[in-house]
Amino acid sequence: MTTHNNSRIALVTGGTRGIGEAICRALATDGYQVVTTYRNEEREPDARDWQARMAGDGLEIDLVKMDIADADSCEHAASELLERYGRLDVLVNNAGITRDAVMKKMPLESWHDVIHTNLDGVFQVTRCFLDTLLAQGYGRIINISSINAQKGQFGQVNYSAAKAGIHGFTKALAQETARKGITVNTVSPGYVETDMVRAIDEKIREQIKAQIPVGRFGQPEEIARLVTFLADEQSSFITGADLSINGGMFMH
Ligand code: NDP
Repeated sequence: MTTHNNSRIALVTGGTRGIGEAICRALATDGYQVVTTYRNEEREPDARDWQARMAGDGLEIDLVKMDIADADSCEHAASELLERYGRLDVLVNNAGITRDAVMKKMPLESWHDVIHTNLDGVFQVTRCFLDTLLAQGYGRIINISSINAQKGQFGQVNYSAAKAGIHGFTKALAQETARKGITVNTVSPGYVETDMVRAIDEKIREQIKAQIPVGRFGQPEEIARLVTFLADEQSSFITGADLSINGGMFMH
């Protein structure tokens, strides 16, 4: 049975800026009812302003409070979403953080924070919706990893390890759900122009850019395009894959 996108529900974690925002825009433009997250009460006013800006562009995006690093918060948000919409079709695990330092100088806390948010967070959020996806016999789970998981990155043992963990998670869950109409894939972006990359020292950013064969950073919209492709009902034969989107910076 073909279901039109306008009855499909999509959750994008951390969608109020950067790559997540572009994914929200692209899915909403394609007709999905998109829901995204804000971490806590403190961030709610900014998230509501963002929601109003999106509405100004004709995109009605819903919000739930969800801290992916907090299992209770994930469960609460998931119940709220499922109460509102009764189903979930597309889950984009996008939210992530960095706490960079060379290992010699990396506090244990930075290791734990990044593993907990970027890897445990993916497990925690996905777990809340898995029964629903299985009962529906349909789902698209798209996990945003990174080129730095594929090749490792100086100054990011925590981030590279957490994001590499997502690849194992994706492949294992893809096998567990393959016969249930659910696909699970990883998207591994290279360097994309968002706050995360703008926070890198300008000299280092220029050095990074020089290593990108296409000669520029990626745009969030380019990552969003790949996500909407994977989210499509017709992308049903792609599962357990890791799709690189990096301007040719890492080929494997
Ligand atoms: P940003 O830092 O611009 O945005 C990250 C988003 O995640 C924000 O909305 C942030 O919320 C949210 N977030 C962080 N922690 C939590 C949490 N505990 N609970 C809920 N939401 C949270 O990142 P990008 O857009 O650059 O990156 C998006 C994803 O893509 C990340 O997973 C990143 O690792 C990955 N990536 C990015 C690349 C890049 O070049 N930019 C390259 C490769 C991968 P808040 O606004 O509250 O901080």
